[in-house]
Amino acid sequence: EAKKRGKNQVVFFSSQQNESIEYRLFVEQGLYNAIVNQDLYASFQPIVDSEENIVALEALCRWNNIDIGHIHPESFIPIAEETGLINALGLKMLREVCIANVLLREAGMSHIKLHVNVSILQLNSQVLVDQFLAYLKDFDVSPKDIVLEVTETAMHDNSTKRILRELAKSGFGIAIDDFGAGFASVSELTEPYTTMVKLDKSLAPTGDVTNTRNVIAESLIQLCQKLGKTVLLEGIEKEIQADFARQAGCHYMQGFLFAKPMSLTEAMQRITQKEAQAV
Ligand code: C2E
Ligand code: MG
Ligand code: MG
Ligand code: MG
Repeated sequence: EAKKRGKNQVVFFSSQQNESIEYRLFVEQGLYNAIVNQDLYASFQPIVDSEENIVALEALCRWNNIDIGHIHPESFIPIAEETGLINALGLKMLREVCIANVLLREAGMSHIKLHVNVSILQLNSQVLVDQFLAYLKDFDVSPKDIVLEVTETAMHDNSTKRILRELAKSGFGIAIDDFGAGFASVSELTEPYTTMVKLDKSLAPTGDVTNTRNVIAESLIQLCQKLGKTVLLEGIEKEIQADFARQAGCHYMQGFLFAKPMSLTEAMQRITQKEAQAV
């Protein structure tokens, strides 16, 4: 049945009908199954320092459907949020990250941190925080090895902030994702739980050195530094963008120029290669 349905849905994925009822139903049913079987998994994108050493891996959710192929997170995360499946998806991703942490440790790469994206809807109850901590305990993973990425718009109400403070107190790193793409609320930078700021790829310069957004990006980087936050520029695709990030004083960088999202095995091979080169 799922198979038949999947085949019939191909058109919806390639057209602009992502909002259609059929698509929603497909995603809802399909996601549920994908969480249970192994069609939903994590891909890992390296995060590098200014010398291009890999310091962390960001887990990005991937859904590979047998009938349709690869489905992008941007088209299923919102539906997962609306249907409540985001909690199961989020725990699945946390599990992937815990397993990755164990494997990294076993390979002598315990210095590599793991980032996981967290939806605001996962942060609306204490139960979830307890569940998170229980999960980590099961895998014997320290929250200090994990950075939770939360988008800036997600950080508005007080109960969310309370939960984030709680998570930070437990040892998790908290990164504001896509900073500068939305409201770029400076008040979020004043929160002690914010350990890292990920500047949105729209702030990465395109070429012109006197560009207004370079001025904005540079000022934001300085602001974050003065406030003691770790700063990262996302979406780096070109050498000039990497140069800009380095000159402006970004601690970390991420983007296709350095590495695309990949399997954990590939990421570990990369880390080994990099570290061999550095010796
Ligand atoms: P994000 O967390 O900001 O992740 C960065 C996105 O930019 C990823 O897309 C990544 O593949 C892409 N990217 C990385 N480097 C470059 C680059 O140099 N150029 C360009 N053009 N893109 C680059 P992806 O994997 O499609 O994920 C999209 C968004 O979906 C993520 O944005 C995140 O908000 C959300 N997402 C992904 N996985 C999860 C998850 O497990 N849970 C939740 N709640 N959201 C997730
Ligand atoms: Mg992210
Ligand atoms: Mg981002
Ligand atoms: Mg994003």
